[in-house]
Amino acid sequence: MDVSRIGDLRSAAVPPAHHLIDGAMREASDGGRMATLSPLDGAELTTLARGTRADADAAVAAARAAFDDGRWQGMAPAARKAVMLKWAALIEAEALDLAVLGVRENGTEIGMAFKAEPLSAAGTIRYYAEAIDKLYGEIAPTAPGTLGLVHREPAGVVGAIVPWNFPLMIGAWKLGPALAAGCSVVLKPPETASLTLLRIAELALEAGLPPGVLNVVTGEGAVVGDAIARSMDVDVLVFTGSGATGRRLMEASAQSNLKRVYLELGGKSPNIVFADAPDIGAAVKASANGIFRNAGQVCVAGSRLLVERSICDAFVKALAEVTGTMNVGDPLDPATAIGAVHSLDQLDRSLGFVEEARAQGRPILSGGGRILEETGGYFMAPTIVADVAPCDRVAQEEVFGPVLAVIPFDSEEEAVAIANGTDYGLAAGVWTADLGRAHRMIRALRAGVVHVNTYGGSDLTVPLGGVKQSGNGHDKSLHAFDKYLDLKTAWISL
Ligand code: NAD
Repeated sequence: MDVSRIGDLRSAAVPPAHHLIDGAMREASDGGRMATLSPLDGAELTTLARGTRADADAAVAAARAAFDDGRWQGMAPAARKAVMLKWAALIEAEALDLAVLGVRENGTEIGMAFKAEPLSAAGTIRYYAEAIDKLYGEIAPTAPGTLGLVHREPAGVVGAIVPWNFPLMIGAWKLGPALAAGCSVVLKPPETASLTLLRIAELALEAGLPPGVLNVVTGEGAVVGDAIARSMDVDVLVFTGSGATGRRLMEASAQSNLKRVYLELGGKSPNIVFADAPDIGAAVKASANGIFRNAGQVCVAGSRLLVERSICDAFVKALAEVTGTMNVGDPLDPATAIGAVHSLDQLDRSLGFVEEARAQGRPILSGGGRILEETGGYFMAPTIVADVAPCDRVAQEEVFGPVLAVIPFDSEEEAVAIANGTDYGLAAGVWTADLGRAHRMIRALRAGVVHVNTYGGSDLTVPLGGVKQSGNGHDKSLHAFDKYLDLKTAWISL
């Protein structure tokens, strides 16, 4: 990362943004615009086209035409692969520009954003590009006289709706496998973090992706997102975001064409520290990073810290010390550990949880309030709430902010019961030196990913998905292709 360029990029003017439909920049059908505010200072960064239902329909029509005439799915796999590899290279070449633009929109600290946004997106697109010419169909073990072939065919037009916390990373988790599978896509970026996704869509065109294969429509979820979800011409809907929106998307599918809906939703992930953890210092550090990086706005954030009672006081004391060393502030300063909260709404939500816990008499061991208000930006001190009861709202509901709920426990069984005692099932962590216990916990925890003696940081080679109300699909790994490829049987009499 060439930090010397950050100063110029931070103040560069951002031109008004448009939809990208059928390979061309387009205004909203009614000319509507909406402002994007920067969480760094609360000021207007630029404006976006405020999409209409007609815009969403136009994008779906473009994607449908591109799919049906085979301009992308009909290309030789090696040629599609070359386009996607070039696309990944173009994203990488612009990584710092994309990272800074993204931080100005969503507030993530640049050290994390640089790797987790453009570089991760480029890596994801490359990974799926490389798989394009390695996906085979099957020949079924049938009786002589018949041949059973199992084809894998692109599923058609994909609607992709993504959130603001990591728009490029999560966007690429959808775009990579969908485009590699040969599908066409209509992407609806988050209304408060659209600019970097629009830019990488332009880079896709530059890399040779035919017009109409990837379309981006900006605007409000309730208008553009809803129109995509209700479209009769979208075959698959992939979504990352809140459970409330996920429910609406399932209803929209049921009320339209029964499009398949894959949801990646929120979490309330338990990070469980046993007294026999092999390296308590590492557990302390990982627990702090696991909740406070990106100001807690991470779907797999370890937002519930379960600590065996015999070490709980000492552990929490050490955690408060480490948290005190994490500097909060300007997300574009590479030394910053915790950037801005994304919006005033998010900030108020987090503060509300802390106030409620305080009113219940829970000790607030560090943080607890808004800071750096004089900047105009949205910053909150990382907050540790101790002695939380498993049924407290701060232990049950996703805060999606820098707020950690600490819950002591006395036995393995109790830890499992508390850990599984929410509506969510996205991630979990277990710290223990006992191999048997580690495997028992992996089996007992209802979560899509269980970390052992670490927290977070899994790579693209493994799936990410939730159970219970955390979702029903998987991003990442070759398993992600299952959402975008249909199986077709050919049953042939010989
Ligand atoms: P959100 O549900 O408010 O918005 C997500 C997207 O849905 C946005 O693009 C938004 O415009 C769109 N949308 C909103 N209302 C819609 C509607 N009625 N119809 C169609 N689309 C609509 O969520 P958010 O606040 O942007 O994101 C935060 C949530 O995302 C948290 O719950 C977080 O845990 C979750 N998340 C999950 C994962 C995961 O992999 N499981 C990853 C990151 C974030």
